[in-house]
Amino acid sequence: MLVIPVFIPHQGCPQNCIFCNQVSISGQKSSACTDDEGLVRSTVNTWLGRSRRRKRVQVAFFGGSFTCLPRERQQSLLTAVQPFIHAGDVQSIRLSTRPDCIDNDVCEFLKKNHVTSVELGVQSLDDKVLQAAWRGHSAADSVRAAKSVSNAGLELGIQLMPGLPMETSGSWFATLRQVLQLQPDCVRIYPTLVIDGSGLATQFREGNFRPISMNRAIALCGRAREIFDSAGIKILRMGLQASESLEEQLLAGPYHPAFGEMVTARHWLKRSRKLLADSPAQSKVIFTISNRDVSAFVGPKRCNMKRLEVLLQQDLNNRNKSFALETDATLARGTLKYVIA
Ligand code: SF4
Repeated sequence: MLVIPVFIPHQGCPQNCIFCNQVSISGQKSSACTDDEGLVRSTVNTWLGRSRRRKRVQVAFFGGSFTCLPRERQQSLLTAVQPFIHAGDVQSIRLSTRPDCIDNDVCEFLKKNHVTSVELGVQSLDDKVLQAAWRGHSAADSVRAAKSVSNAGLELGIQLMPGLPMETSGSWFATLRQVLQLQPDCVRIYPTLVIDGSGLATQFREGNFRPISMNRAIALCGRAREIFDSAGIKILRMGLQASESLEEQLLAGPYHPAFGEMVTARHWLKRSRKLLADSPAQSKVIFTISNRDVSAFVGPKRCNMKRLEVLLQQDLNNRNKSFALETDATLARGTLKYVIA
């Protein structure tokens, strides 16, 4: 599916959340566009022109609080997509919004305009964290909004942010458990970063906020990944999309342009390390994976292979173990088979 992002940075937002500087994140100015039709038409035409071999196309309004905009403005943006839908060039619309700006009535309006997916900026389901993040809504608002979206038959996406002020491991895992109960179709997970121009940047400079480390971000997101994978919930993205403006404005925090790959690599390391640790002395463990998983298994700069070698030499008491990696193109992605020789 080709997803065409149409950025409406910060538009509709009733206030600034403490971590947010959408202008840096999206790389686009926040001034409200007065020519919605022109914005949508030029963005969609540019993307359609670049990508000729596409099956399904979705237009996505990101970066603001779509359903907090006045209804006429929402209608104007959605109407601008309709000619592409009628021509068969675009099949659906997705958008992101705040949980306190959506209810059953709004969902019906969106459906009438070919919106099929709504992503809610939930971030946390701990009221203390939401308050510290200046979100201006409660966890109960998020639960109610998620139910409205699902009950309307729209695809439900949930966006989460580990590492916000006041968050503890307990509140992060409690949030994950509650999100599971909401049965979203997909999630995005963005570890909290300190971006210049945000409220968090002020707190960081004053020494009142310290972001989580890269190692902790990978561990928290890795566990979230295991939980969502086993529930069949798709993870659309982990870590913010890399952009020049984001990298220029980033003050601190667990940012890496390939953050999601780092989390995936850690996941493979955990699985393979356990099998190696449990294997008998003087054995050789032969791992077999899909050929499409090789780079994830090996890890960035072969970090997983190096780590496994070190573990064999040190942590496993040098019991003459070894391992080998083989591939099988018929295996489904994510499968890890092994034999002990
Ligand atoms: S996080 Fe979302 S709701 Fe908050 S200011 Fe940014 S775009 Fe608006």
